[in-house]
Amino acid sequence: MDNDCLFCRIVAGEIPATVVHETETTLAFRDIDPKAPVHVLVIPKDHHPDVVTLANDDPAAAAGLLAAAAAVAETEGLLMDGFRLLFNTGGYAGQEVFHVHAHVLGGEPLGPMLAPR
Ligand code: AMP
Repeated sequence: MDNDCLFCRIVAGEIPATVVHETETTLAFRDIDPKAPVHVLVIPKDHHPDVVTLANDDPAAAAGLLAAAAAVAETEGLLMDGFRLLFNTGGYAGQEVFHVHAHVLGGEPLGPMLAPR
């Protein structure tokens, strides 16, 4: 655990979150500032700053994270209409929290993949 990491503190139960799915190695909870009717963050319980370090350092955990995201999409009822799975990674992507997290977004048409520039 990284004591300075917001999502590690959620895993530790020090900061509340609305948990929707949990496995031995992953936690999924609702985004505090949802960008869609369904907006869930799926994280590994172990600290990895981003998806690149996760994939390189612990491929099994990366696979577990994808499986958890798929389970969340199913339990949130997103499989029929579709959904978006997103990993912001680094500065150009606007990553704000450096504990890898998959955004599961859905519940309505999501529009273009990127905002018009
Ligand atoms: P990113 O920009 O990909 O790093 O996304 C970080 C996400 O974390 C944003 O969508 C925030 O709204 C969300 N977030 C920040 N703090 C919390 C929190 N305490 N509980 C749930 N979601 C949070």
